Amino acid sequence: MTAKDEHIAVTRFREFLRVKTVQPKPDYVGCEAFLKKYAEELGLAYTGVECVKGKPICILTWAGTDASLPSIMLNCHSDVVPVSADKWTHDPFAADKLENGDIIARGAQDMKCVGIQYLEAIRILKQQQKVQLKRTLHVTFVPDEEIGGQDGMKLFVKTDDYKKLNIGFALDEGLANPGDAYKVFYGERAPWWLTITAKGKAGHGSQFLEPSATVRLLKVLNRFLAFRDSESNRLKHGRTAKSVPFQLGDVTTTNITILKAGVQHNVVPETASAGIDIRVAPTVDLNAFKEMIEGWCAEQDVGIEYVNTFWSNATTAPEDHNPWWRLLKGVAEKRKVDLEPEIFPAATDSRYIREIGIPAFGISPMRNTPVLLHDHDEYLNERVFLDGVDFYTDLVPALANNTEELVER
Ligand code: ZN
Repeated sequence: MTAKDEHIAVTRFREFLRVKTVQPKPDYVGCEAFLKKYAEELGLAYTGVECVKGKPICILTWAGTDASLPSIMLNCHSDVVPVSADKWTHDPFAADKLENGDIIARGAQDMKCVGIQYLEAIRILKQQQKVQLKRTLHVTFVPDEEIGGQDGMKLFVKTDDYKKLNIGFALDEGLANPGDAYKVFYGERAPWWLTITAKGKAGHGSQFLEPSATVRLLKVLNRFLAFRDSESNRLKHGRTAKSVPFQLGDVTTTNITILKAGVQHNVVPETASAGIDIRVAPTVDLNAFKEMIEGWCAEQDVGIEYVNTFWSNATTAPEDHNPWWRLLKGVAEKRKVDLEPEIFPAATDSRYIREIGIPAFGISPMRNTPVLLHDHDEYLNERVFLDGVDFYTDLVPALANNTEELVER
C-alpha cells in the first residue's frame, strides 16, 4: 500500500508515533502542537492545562447536546517508555510499516494507538455519519503516566480544570491480548512500596549481641515471605466467584527488592533495612492489611516507612447493574468480540480516576496480538488498529447517548 492510499487513521497514528514523547525527556511541546492541529482538523475545542510547567494535559472536546449529563473522558497518556535502540530491527521512532501491515514503533501498543483510535472514531461520527451525541466527550492526553503520573493525572484530578469537565465515566488503557478477546480492566492492585528498618546492638562479630538488627529484620522478612508463598499458591489454585482461574491481578504480590546492612564481615551492624514492593489485590481490605504488616514489624520492634503507597483499590463493577458495562458488553456482542474482565496486574492512571469515585474501564482493543508494551520491536498491525477505530465508532455513541448513571451497590 502506498502512502497515497493509506487510511487517514493509519497516517495520523504513524505521525503521532514519530513525536518523540519518550521518557525521561518527552517532547511534550511537539505533542501539544500535533494535538492542537488535530483538534482543528476535526473541529474539536482544544484546552491545554499544565499542573506542572512543561507537562501539558491536552484536552480535545466535542460538546454534546445535553449539558445536564456528566461527560465522558477518553484518556490516553502521551508519554512512552525508553528504548534500547540497538535491540530494535527498525528505528523506534520512524513508525515503519512492513509489507504485512505491522507498524513498528515505541508506543504502537502503549498507548498511542488508543488515543488516535478515539479521535479517528470521532472523525467518522462527526464528518461521515454527521451524528450529534448527548454527552460531551473529552479526549485527554496526559503526561508522565510511565513514571507514575505524579505530575499528570494524579494532580489533574484535583484541579478546578478537571472539575469543570464534569466527568461521569472514563475509558483508559488496557493490554493487548494474544487470544481472541478484548481484556477489560475494571480495577488495579494498589502499589505499596515500603522500607522497613531494624535496629540492634553493634559490636564485634565474635559475640551474641542482642538484640540483633539483622535477626530482627529477617524475622519480619520471613513473615513477608510466608505470605508471598501463600499468595503464590492462591494464584496457582484459586478461582474467582465465576470459576475463572485466578490471574496475577487477583492476588497480592510481595517482593523484597532492596536489602541493606553492614559494612564489614566482623562488624555486627546497628541497622538493617529492606525495600519491599507489594501490589495489593482489590479484594484485600487495605486497613486490615496495613494492621497485619504493622503487627509483624511491631513484634520485632522494626520501623516501617511508606515510601510510595496508594491507599485505594476501588474497582468499577463489570456487572449488569452497571450501565457502562452493559453498553460495553452490548457493543462487543454486536461486533462478535468476547470481553475478558480482569484486574490490571500493574498500575495505570485509571487508579487516580477510580480513587475519586469515577467509574473507569481500561481497554486497548488489540486481540490476536502479542503483548509487546515496553518491549523491543513494539508493533501493532494496521488491520488490528483499524478494527479498533471501528470498535470506538460503535462504542462512543453508545456511551455518549446513555442517560443512566452507575448507582453503586
Ligand atoms: Zn500505558
